Amino acid sequence: MQIRVEHLTKCYGETAALQDICLTVEDGELFFLLGPSGCGKTTLLRSIAGFETPTSGEIFLDGKPVAGTPPSQRDTAMVFQGYALFPHMTVRENVSFGLEMQGISKEECATRVNKVLDELQIREFADRKPNQLSGGQQQRVALARTLVVHPGCMLLDEPLANLDAKLRRDMRLEIRNICKENHLTGIYVTHDRAEALSMADRIAVFRNGHIEQIGTPDEVYRHPKTIFVASFIGDTNLREGRVLDTKEGTLETPLGVLRSALLPADVGDGDKLAISMRPEAFRVLKEGESSENTLEVTIRNVDYLGELSEHLATGADGNELKFYEINPRGAVRSGQRVRLAISPEDVVCMKP
Ligand code: ATP
Repeated sequence: MQIRVEHLTKCYGETAALQDICLTVEDGELFFLLGPSGCGKTTLLRSIAGFETPTSGEIFLDGKPVAGTPPSQRDTAMVFQGYALFPHMTVRENVSFGLEMQGISKEECATRVNKVLDELQIREFADRKPNQLSGGQQQRVALARTLVVHPGCMLLDEPLANLDAKLRRDMRLEIRNICKENHLTGIYVTHDRAEALSMADRIAVFRNGHIEQIGTPDEVYRHPKTIFVASFIGDTNLREGRVLDTKEGTLETPLGVLRSALLPADVGDGDKLAISMRPEAFRVLKEGESSENTLEVTIRNVDYLGELSEHLATGADGNELKFYEINPRGAVRSGQRVRLAISPEDVVCMKP
């Protein structure tokens, strides 16, 4: 199912929960709505499902406008943050309910229910009632109940919120695989950037009811268009800079002159830009080693984590600079001065 949202605005009194949202989710795509609490993600999901009436704008499911169509007739299925399971039914009955409503034969129903119970590792609880399950198990039943009916579009509102860290990580892959194997279209709400980056085909980054950027995980992480996206999607070092030479891609920055391969096309010499440099983009130079784009820093704190060290340093401008050292050998110590290099591809420029 293709979902198209055109100029959607939703106001609650004075609060504009959504402002002029436009996006298209393609058939079979796993599309993420990512943003901090209160930015309008759930409101958009509920509007697509038909639980909210937009103040203005339109939603099209497979090209057809759905204004006035009740949720039950939209071929969308929502997995709620709360589980909304039937308390008097067993797990199996909860999961098979939707299929029985569709009049599917008992045999096919049993086959499909068993398959999804196995996929979500809850078959051993099939005869229990929801109140005999942990929160995480109930969450998986809610997911199974939605997956089993093969809806045109699955609408997932923080479906992993109540799971422990390990299960959360396992379930990311599970959900993505199930969606892809069944060619399901999914819209998935989260404020967890790792979940979005690891699972999404594309991500819409929300802020205060509007979309800041839509792109693949790689695009929003490596080529953020705004300071908000750069810092929401991952750790970064932000500085202001001024373009010295657009042809060369050189910038005057508080850390020295740096070259960027990512100058926006429409900037001119002398223009001010915001610069984002991710902590993993820096490399510690060996004694006497030369490279372009070098900067000198003083190490303030070394946080050794085994596979990497997180270093907090002070740059030439006196401000904090964070960088990671992969596979650290313990050579970098607090108080030491080190030279770092960063590739021009990792010096990301944005309009201030
Ligand atoms: P979270 O991640 O915390 O669930 P969210 O991004 O999903 O947040 P929404 O639930 O869509 O955010 O809320 C967006 C804004 O609209 C918030 O300011 C919220 O307080 C407001 N809002 C949501 N529902 C209502 C309502 N029924 N009445 C009034 N205001 C509402």
